[in-house]
Amino acid sequence: MSLTLAIVGRPNVGKSTLFNRLVGKRLALVDDQPGVTRDLREGQARLGDLRFTVIDTAGLENATDDSLPGRMRRLTERAVDMADICLFLIDARAGVTPNDEIFADILRRRSAHVILAANKAEGAAADAGVLEAYGLGLGEPIRLSAEHGEGMNDLYTRLMPLA
Ligand code: GDP
Ligand code: MG
Repeated sequence: MSLTLAIVGRPNVGKSTLFNRLVGKRLALVDDQPGVTRDLREGQARLGDLRFTVIDTAGLENATDDSLPGRMRRLTERAVDMADICLFLIDARAGVTPNDEIFADILRRRSAHVILAANKAEGAAADAGVLEAYGLGLGEPIRLSAEHGEGMNDLYTRLMPLA
């Protein structure tokens, strides 16, 4: 299959942790356009019997709230345009933040095919945040823990019909 999945969301929600879990060491820099693309990492993901390309909007580690509207928006739009599907992560422990809403708007405006995931969802402390995620209006959130590898079966179930 030649599916491309972009992992998007504000800094610190766990995008790179999930990317690394999906890709292991099979990664490359995206280098076909100057500028933002050095901040996109591309890898070949494995999830069960699925094989697909995954893009991490990396390079945001030092982004501040002030840089969100500009640099992060451009980087995210670039990733969305490269992808067939966007995996939009929020931090279930933090709940839905104003910056999450900015990302939701970007995805809606680009008419992206979105899978919503509430990450850091291990344990009961995440329950309220998972419920808040429904309020984004982007469908039912997958409950994920990228760090602990929980919810990967649910991600598989959502991706499998698209493969
Ligand atoms: P990114 O900025 O979105 O790429 O986020 P990172 O992948 O760099 O993760 C940010 C922080 O969240 C790191 O300290 C991770 O260890 C932590 N993190 C990532 N996934 C999880 C998770 O599933 N549960 C918890 N509790 N922490 C996580
Ligand atoms: Mg990252």
